[in-house]
Amino acid sequence: MSSISLREVRKAYVNGPQVLHGVSLDIQPGEFVVIVGPSGCGKSTLLRLIAGLDKCEDGTIEIGGKRANDLPPQDRDIAMIFQNYALYPHMTVRENIAFGLELRGMKKSERNGRAQSVAKTLQLDAYLDRKPAALSGGQRQRVAMGRAMARDASIFLMDEPLSNLDNSLRISMRTEIKELHRQLGATIVYVTHDQTEALSLADRIAVMKDGHLLQFDRPDVIYDRPVNRFVASFLGSPPMNFVAADKIPSWVGEGGLTVGLRPDLLTVHNEKPLQAALPARVILSEMTGSDMLLHCETPAGRLTVITPRKVLGKNAEQLWIGFDLDRALFFDSHSGNRVDLLASGRAG
Ligand code: ADP
Repeated sequence: MSSISLREVRKAYVNGPQVLHGVSLDIQPGEFVVIVGPSGCGKSTLLRLIAGLDKCEDGTIEIGGKRANDLPPQDRDIAMIFQNYALYPHMTVRENIAFGLELRGMKKSERNGRAQSVAKTLQLDAYLDRKPAALSGGQRQRVAMGRAMARDASIFLMDEPLSNLDNSLRISMRTEIKELHRQLGATIVYVTHDQTEALSLADRIAVMKDGHLLQFDRPDVIYDRPVNRFVASFLGSPPMNFVAADKIPSWVGEGGLTVGLRPDLLTVHNEKPLQAALPARVILSEMTGSDMLLHCETPAGRLTVITPRKVLGKNAEQLWIGFDLDRALFFDSHSGNRVDLLASGRAG
């Protein structure tokens, strides 16, 4: 395992706009870091720079404490896994996993031994003589992973490795990747646009937008204390609700603030409650299992509430939505940055 350190990394493609605007990131040896952000924000570009498949025009990239800006990809001790697993259809699972070892001068018996042991870890040993066409999507993904593992690299870079899989497979592969990380102890940098994947996999999440790194922290910190409104709305599903503070009836604080409340922190009442509340009309209700998701129209805009099924309301029913302001987040309405309530001196 190796550390990865990026210092003020900038990147623009030829005749293109600036894609990375000075990104700095320190990844610890053995850490599982997920880079998340909307499509086009520069995640893959960042990964390609770490892999050495592209060059940055400015900034420093260090791998294992050594400057790597000019190191060719094959000297970086990195294995890469992409979403289109890039398996060779005419090769068996064994040959696919061992592919690349021959180029490194490894003898055939040793190559096969390595493939065998990797396949065992990935529970692919029963399929070593099959071709990719005779495998399920999840098994193919594991073969791609196996090829990376066979190289025994100290860093794994994964670019949306699960995005071609159906939902249930994606969830089970998520567990496998996490387990694999535990076994290998390797440093993993994993790119996804899927916030659920980020929250469930990462030791730390790097949230990017428009070529900027907005926040780099543990999933619970990113979720509970997002630096700004973008991070707050990007992570968590369904997304956080935002209400202009002065639209909340009992609001006694300063203006220019937006209140952020996750859907599970709003409460549903049939009668006007004692706490701060807004009248609401249910536009749409969705069952999620034990809970209901209510999309409501209020004088302060659309709000989404998660509530236990028994509380419930039918379409168009009149309800009250209560705000637990002790658990709300506050954002500067102009900049979108999160404001520390105590620091802002708000009373009541
Ligand atoms: P993400 O992985 O977050 O979706 P990318 O890193 O792939 O984003 O792309 C970031 C931006 O750089 C996008 O606007 C994309 O169009 C542009 N881009 C990516 N690769 C190239 C390239 N080879 N040439 C020019 N522009 C590129």
